[in-house]
Amino acid sequence: MGFFDFLFVFCLEGVTLASWYNFLMENEHEKFMKAALKEAQKAYEAKECPIGCVIVKDGKVFARAHNLRLTHGNALDHAEIIAIDKACKKLGDWRLNDMDMYVTLEPCTMCSGAIIQARLHKVYFGAYEPKSGAVCSCNDIFNVAHGHNHQVLFEGGVMEEACSDLMKKFFKEMRDRNKGKKLLD
Ligand SMILES: [Zn+2]
Repeated sequence: MGFFDFLFVFCLEGVTLASWYNFLMENEHEKFMKAALKEAQKAYEAKECPIGCVIVKDGKVFARAHNLRLTHGNALDHAEIIAIDKACKKLGDWRLNDMDMYVTLEPCTMCSGAIIQARLHKVYFGAYEPKSGAVCSCNDIFNVAHGHNHQVLFEGGVMEEACSDLMKKFFKEMRDRNKGKKLLD
């Protein structure tokens, strides 16, 4: 094999390795987003807005939670806040800086603030929230230009369709229920 043949094969292998790595990482993200969706499904079954979340440490789910705002009658009980609370208690530390979060919906202002405070490394979210998403849709809370000294990385649109389908189903059923109520009144 001549030098250029070797170079050709080497480059080809390089491309294959890179795409194999990307494939594995995509599968990894899907695995954790599926775990977050499972949590969202629990919220849906409890008639809560279906948002679920997992916090991942060392390639394993470390804490999981779903939205419980209605059930607890507490404005603070978003999935992300409950998951951060669980992770801090389990770790015995407020710093979650080597952990990533997977959440089915773009976090709100409160949760984005809590994510910065907990020093999470990266947030992967499913559906974008055009009305109140504070990561990139309506605001950019993670931007360090706002005066905080911890940079949270983020990536949106992970399993976006599955995440937004569940939200759409929930809101459609809620509208239908309300319509039914109005007809009875
Ligand atoms: Zn929130």
